Amino acid sequence: MRIVITGGAGFVGSHLVERYLAAGDEVIVVDNLITGSRRNLEAVADHPRLTFIEHDVSRPFTVDGPVDAIAHLASPASPIDFLRLPIQILKVNSLGTYHALGMARAKGARFLLASTSEIYGDPDVHPQTEDYHGNVDTLGPRGAYDEAKRFAEAITMAYHRMHGVPIRIVRIFNTYGPRMRLDDGRVVPNFVSQSLKGEPLTAFGDGEQTRSFCYVDDLVDGIVRLMASDVTGPVNIGNPLELTVLEFARRINALTGNPAGVALLPLPAERTGDPSRRCPDITRATTLLGWQPTVSLDDGLARTVAWFASELQRAGH
Ligand code: NAD
Ligand code: UDP
Repeated sequence: MRIVITGGAGFVGSHLVERYLAAGDEVIVVDNLITGSRRNLEAVADHPRLTFIEHDVSRPFTVDGPVDAIAHLASPASPIDFLRLPIQILKVNSLGTYHALGMARAKGARFLLASTSEIYGDPDVHPQTEDYHGNVDTLGPRGAYDEAKRFAEAITMAYHRMHGVPIRIVRIFNTYGPRMRLDDGRVVPNFVSQSLKGEPLTAFGDGEQTRSFCYVDDLVDGIVRLMASDVTGPVNIGNPLELTVLEFARRINALTGNPAGVALLPLPAERTGDPSRRCPDITRATTLLGWQPTVSLDDGLARTVAWFASELQRAGH
């Protein structure tokens, strides 16, 4: 297969690139490096079946030759990025998705959209099923990202209905693993680096909000299965093990032997609208794709801690 991966130099994208290369496919990455990095692809940089194109997909683009599939992952994804880059996020998920869909149509390629659990907002339905329509604040600090992804889903469905483009929509829940940015402000980089430095972990609010963390290899396996399937409707991919932020902090401190514990801090203003709970219902992934997560939280965290330890060393800590 010849596959285009937008956002292939990012955290999730780079793992997906490696997975397709290992399977014998030809991969073309299109990425403007706004939140990604060439270093994420350094292990495969000289691979004969990998092409890297530096380009902003919010501007029109195409690639030479036939294309069998497009995985559209390009989008900043962390709450810090929601504040820093709201217009870029709105553009890449609207114009960028439009351009990627246009290429899928022109090439006769299947198209997979990386959507998000954020389209459920602060959910009234728990765990979240794909038929839940969500509770999103359009105007809050997360509004640009949430609405951008909701638009991306809508235009993806429109291309399917109007032009018959074969589409897949993956709703990704919180994912963690090597190659997350040290400073991206998400809970995993913050807690793991604080824990490795022997500092108290900064839990926001009362720490009773919940999240469900999926190891990146499991997510990539779900994406590959979805791409290969004929499932048009949205599919949640996430790990249904739900923990409070406080429980999560304690698991990390136990793993690193950090005696500094946890500090409760007021929810920062930019975190207004922080969803109070989040957990995927993965019945569709299990029944339609035969997918379920296989990496335990302790295994995944151990691999992540090892990776952040080397990143901190590299950064001179
Ligand atoms: P990331 O920031 O590490 O990767 C995104 C990549 O897209 C980066 O390499 C960035 O440079 C690139 N990009 C952004 N805008 C672009 C543009 N206009 N043109 C070309 N390239 C552009 O983020 P990630 O965590 O790997 O997320 C990948 C995808 O998965 C995103 O679409 C995100 O919304 C989705 N997602 C991720 C998570 C998660 O927990 N990581 C959860 C839900 C959804
Ligand atoms: N969080 C926290 N301390 C931190 C960073 C995040 O308590 O230093 C909380 C945050 O308020 C949220 C959860 O951890 O409730 C997950 O945050 P993250 O940014 O990783 O992802 P989100 O699910 O909010 O997009």
